[in-house]
Amino acid sequence: MNNCIFCKIAAKEVPCHMIYEDEEVIAFLDINPVNFGHTLIIPKKHFANIFETPDDLVCKCFLKAKELAPKIIKAVRADYCHINVAGQDVAHFHVHIIPRHNNDGLSNWPTKKTNNKELNKIKEDILKEIN
Ligand code: 5GP
Ligand code: ZN
Repeated sequence: MNNCIFCKIAAKEVPCHMIYEDEEVIAFLDINPVNFGHTLIIPKKHFANIFETPDDLVCKCFLKAKELAPKIIKAVRADYCHINVAGQDVAHFHVHIIPRHNNDGLSNWPTKKTNNKELNKIKEDILKEIN
């Protein structure tokens, strides 16, 4: 947590373009936006990832994303948005709101070719972990 950039943003030690704040969460613009309006919502307290974050805070971040996203879409005249957790870079739980425009040139997720046999095997492997 000591050197966590998002903790520093939450503590106002590092500036950000904040669009929402309350006692528990803060929302601010991503410094390297996928599209304009790209927003991050974080708990102010440090949790490394979604699995370590208490359920009520996970809910709060997603509910805040649900509330803010339509306003962001309107503000940047986007057509729709992604609301997701990537967690590739900063180890402080955060939810992305990524505005998307039809024909914005971004590719969708790359996909794999698969078949029923493979999908059934993966389904069985996952069910073994769940049950
Ligand atoms: P992820 O961990 O979800 O893969 O990516 C972290 C996100 O945080 C990236 O989209 C990156 O641009 C953003 N980010 C990293 N450092 C900063 C920062 O100092 N300020 C802001 N506003 N965003 C940041
Ligand atoms: Zn942190």
